Amino acid sequence: MRDVLEQAVALGKTHTHEGAVATYIPELGKVDGSQLGVSVFCRNGKRISVGDTKVRFSIQSISKIITLAVALEICGFDQVFKKVGMEPTGDPFNSLMKLENTDSSPYNPMINAGAIVVASCLASEISFDTMLDTIRALCMDPDINLDKKVYHSEMSHISRNRAIAYLLESKGYIEKNKDVENSLHFYVKMCSLSVTAESLAGLGLILANDGIHPDTGKRLLSSQAVKIVKTLMFTCGMYDGSGEFAVRVGIPSKSGVGGGILSVVDGEMGIGIFGPALDKKGNSVAGECVLEYMSHELHLHMFDPQRHTL
Ligand code: GLN
Repeated sequence: MRDVLEQAVALGKTHTHEGAVATYIPELGKVDGSQLGVSVFCRNGKRISVGDTKVRFSIQSISKIITLAVALEICGFDQVFKKVGMEPTGDPFNSLMKLENTDSSPYNPMINAGAIVVASCLASEISFDTMLDTIRALCMDPDINLDKKVYHSEMSHISRNRAIAYLLESKGYIEKNKDVENSLHFYVKMCSLSVTAESLAGLGLILANDGIHPDTGKRLLSSQAVKIVKTLMFTCGMYDGSGEFAVRVGIPSKSGVGGGILSVVDGEMGIGIFGPALDKKGNSVAGECVLEYMSHELHLHMFDPQRHTL
């Protein structure tokens, strides 16, 4: 498999110039867009990393799957899905359009509006420090921390997300007794965690293995939470690029504007990617290219007739 990963990274590298690092959070604009790395953690214990897989970067929207999984555990299915839907939007991740123009709750937990609602459910139930411990365990990475520079950078350019949060409150999706600012801070802290491609592969493996750590046999997430998270990753994880990505790659994935992509080959492996040059939709250009190549060469597409489970 290593040779396929090496070929995928070599191919991806020829595409990094087609994208650009996110600059709307100024701290992210300082990152070198030519970096690229992929890590694969398999259920059978095999771990392969190629390229820039130990570089720390900002998890950004990939944190939305962690927030959702933990909220499902703590608040429960009904409480969470009373406030947020399960449908793809076809709109950019930070859009306010459907929120303002329809009577519907935020369409899904993978877009900013939905994730802020989920954060509001969790913020009063769990401290950020406890959340951090949970994340370190889920990602098999004890060194994950809040990147304070990214956090402050995002908080000082938060107008759009703040507008979303107050619109949510005005429509009753954030309850009056919940502190909107507190929910927003919780959301941004989650986005400002610094991870590596290897940490993402670790979390991907836990999700691929039904929420159970394969080395210890310990269950970290319920089967139900894992099933929901993977389904929403497949339908909504790449924002308004989710449909084309499902056709071309066919692996449940979640991207973030820090350049990460976390992918789950169910029953088999977790894949973590770092490639900070983004396309117009906010997805890693080289990362998508790496995944499409891997999917084709290793038969990882969910509906590939040659796909097998170890
Ligand atoms: N923190 C970012 C935001 O709210 C997350 C977006 C993303 O990664 N797509 O805009």
